[in-house]
Amino acid sequence: MRLKKEFAYYAKIALNRLGWIAGQVELTTKCFQRCRGCMSWQQPHKEFTLDQLKIACQQLVSFPTFEHLTLTGGDPQAWSSLNEFFRWYIAVKPQFKLQINCAMTQPIKNRWLWREALSDIKVSMDSCNEKIYQLIRGDKKTTPQMIMDRCWKLDHPRLAFNVTVYPENQIGLVDLIYNLNWHHQQGLSIRKVMITAGIGSEARKGNQDKNFWDIWQKHKKIILSDKNIAINTSFHELHDEDELMVRDICSLQGIKSVHCWSSLLGFHAKPNGDLYPCCIVGGEVAETLEEFKVGNIFESNLKELYPTLTSQLHYKKEVCRDNCMYKQLQLNLITEQASEVILSLP
Ligand code: SF4
Ligand code: SF4
Repeated sequence: MRLKKEFAYYAKIALNRLGWIAGQVELTTKCFQRCRGCMSWQQPHKEFTLDQLKIACQQLVSFPTFEHLTLTGGDPQAWSSLNEFFRWYIAVKPQFKLQINCAMTQPIKNRWLWREALSDIKVSMDSCNEKIYQLIRGDKKTTPQMIMDRCWKLDHPRLAFNVTVYPENQIGLVDLIYNLNWHHQQGLSIRKVMITAGIGSEARKGNQDKNFWDIWQKHKKIILSDKNIAINTSFHELHDEDELMVRDICSLQGIKSVHCWSSLLGFHAKPNGDLYPCCIVGGEVAETLEEFKVGNIFESNLKELYPTLTSQLHYKKEVCRDNCMYKQLQLNLITEQASEVILSLP
């Protein structure tokens, strides 16, 4: 696997324990959808108050390394203080960028606020076929057309889409890319389309078999070879370093001695304030794994909490070997390499 050069910078930050670079906050457990394999909406209702989020942001500003905060859920649009938070963020202008990951299930009432506060918007879009979309997302009210209409109305310069592939929507992947490409050619700014195979125990039941990955490779070939596709997809960026390779690396015995450095680079905060090193063990795709918890954002000052964090041998656990994603795995591998160089110096 070729390691991305920019990750060397992140490795230095982790090894020198300079501070978090990015964080992700689940604002609320509330959601308008019931996606396959998602546990978020099944949890008892909890959410950040506006003040709790503001305090966390004020503490994050004291990390000179902190670049990026992502708001997620549940559905961030189900958090009643969202627009008020955007107003605060615009007025305070902290040094970090703000991103939202949402499903665009609701109309956007204040387009100006969204465009002004957010540097990036990632919208989940698993199919352009209404029936398949509604089946995957457990939502009979929202249609792909409604989502695209809202994206056009918002017209954000850095709009991206997340496509999660399961056996149910796999057959329509190429059509979806053509559909998004059509919108792009009509003038909708689409920065990128991230295509990932569904992870977590529930999703994996369907995409373990060879047939899934054969179709995956076939679709990838079609998308990469069609010169009419002008949108940038993760297939275009990852080349041969795809999900299959990540899974191969995670299945190697040697991976068990590689440390996970994620808690020194970022965090995933739950609606009850609990902090995890990444969204995977934080419960985005499976149940939240309490053994990975590193603190609580409501109970500790983040500046005091950070120095207590250490790298851990998480790949000894199956959940990490099964689910650790491309970016986290690369970061862990490169930081581990860098730590060995430093440790072996005379
Ligand atoms: S994946 Fe997101 S949109 Fe779907 S049910 Fe879970 S929180 Fe809601
Ligand atoms: S999934 Fe990867 S990044 Fe997350 S805790 Fe496990 S090893 Fe670390």
